[in-house]
Amino acid sequence: MSKNLLVIISDQLSFRGLNIYGNDRVKTPNLDSFFKDGFIFDNAYTTCPLCQPARSALWSGWHPHNTGAMSNGRWMDVPQLSKDVTTLGERLGEAGYNCIHLGKTHDAGSLRGFDCTPQEEPQDLQSDVYVYNYDTWRDIDNTRRTVDTLNTIGDDKFALIVDFNNPHNICNFCAFADTLAEDAIPDLPPLPPNFDVPDMETRPLPVQYLCCSHNRQRQATQWNDLQFRQYIAAYYHYVELLDSQLGEVFAALEASGKKDDTIVCFCADHGDNMAARRMTTKHSSFYEETTHVPLFFAGKDIPGGRSEALVSHLDLVPTFCSMLGVEIQEDLWGDDLCPVMAGEKDDVHDFVVSEWHSEWGTTVEPCRMLRSKDFKYTRYRENEAEELYDLRNDPYEIKNLVNDAAYAEQLNQHRALLDKHMQDTDDGFPQMDIDIDPRWRSHAPGFRNHEGPTAPELRQEQEA
Ligand code: ZN
Repeated sequence: MSKNLLVIISDQLSFRGLNIYGNDRVKTPNLDSFFKDGFIFDNAYTTCPLCQPARSALWSGWHPHNTGAMSNGRWMDVPQLSKDVTTLGERLGEAGYNCIHLGKTHDAGSLRGFDCTPQEEPQDLQSDVYVYNYDTWRDIDNTRRTVDTLNTIGDDKFALIVDFNNPHNICNFCAFADTLAEDAIPDLPPLPPNFDVPDMETRPLPVQYLCCSHNRQRQATQWNDLQFRQYIAAYYHYVELLDSQLGEVFAALEASGKKDDTIVCFCADHGDNMAARRMTTKHSSFYEETTHVPLFFAGKDIPGGRSEALVSHLDLVPTFCSMLGVEIQEDLWGDDLCPVMAGEKDDVHDFVVSEWHSEWGTTVEPCRMLRSKDFKYTRYRENEAEELYDLRNDPYEIKNLVNDAAYAEQLNQHRALLDKHMQDTDDGFPQMDIDIDPRWRSHAPGFRNHEGPTAPELRQEQEA
């Protein structure tokens, strides 16, 4: 059994942004080679396409509606994780692990048990067309700290989490995309096949009016096709920056002599819209680009292989415990993925779920997603709107089948699965309040028709 655990987490990395999942525009030689003989999960999902709820769920093993961390805070109170919940850090600490966390936290107390080092911002990187911000600066510091830690960590068994910010720098890029020259970035990637979806005006209102609730979407409302292609190019650039820093971490692990004793896991908290549906970054929607995330394992004891099993971030706490010989708490929703990697099981779940509440509390738009083997079903509290996509035949979610009579049976099955799941996990979603001022639903449909500030920008103006 391997002695140590190294978990590397990236912020805002979609499965569609990686070569391992078929994107040959992105160059990630370090990830590709490190996990070449490892185990790849092809269908891993976040519990929420937003940092804090996703992270709180990941490190605790509980759904966001159970942890109470359902937003990024700011104008909405986010409780620290209850002391009644045992975190991954507490579990491993009790088992004698030296638990260290480096990099971005944003965890609402769920990293309890890890020794967390605050990040620094060495602003020594000149911004070029890609406009670097704290995300990239902090990753430079984080890489240095990780290499130092691996060089000096000693012989005690360790659980080390390294939390990188990139490609999250793409959020900041949105504010500057208007200022770029047409030829600022050569050899632009093409637009995605779902750049324009014909039925956008039938999608749930929180999706249609993303431009009113999300600053980054508002910044992109007047972009032309070329600017969206620059956005995708910048996204790939931040992914490649991350990969080059991972190369330094992998080299340090090798040089430490501990590689053979260490299981390495790579994942991301959530993805990025990558210009699909003319959408940037992430918000109140559950499309593949933002909820479907990478998940890889490598190590001497990890069998090589790939699995299409549906897996969730909630499976990580039980899996890490199982890998390290630590007792798994039975009431967790997630499952141990080791039998899948060992080829003893094909699946652990019939479905996985994801949820959304609010980013900062200025629009509250609760919604839920259930992803089964073939379909994705979503339900929004606002107007009880729903979506259904046939992911086998429509992987880019171009046609919402919710009003297609030919899919009535599948729709009813998925409705029932979500209802039961909410009952089983004490999810108060059916009674949750919606809080959306009518002005954020007032312009003609279409992001291009948006004018003025977003809900959070208006709130900020009012407070200034
Ligand atoms: Zn708008």
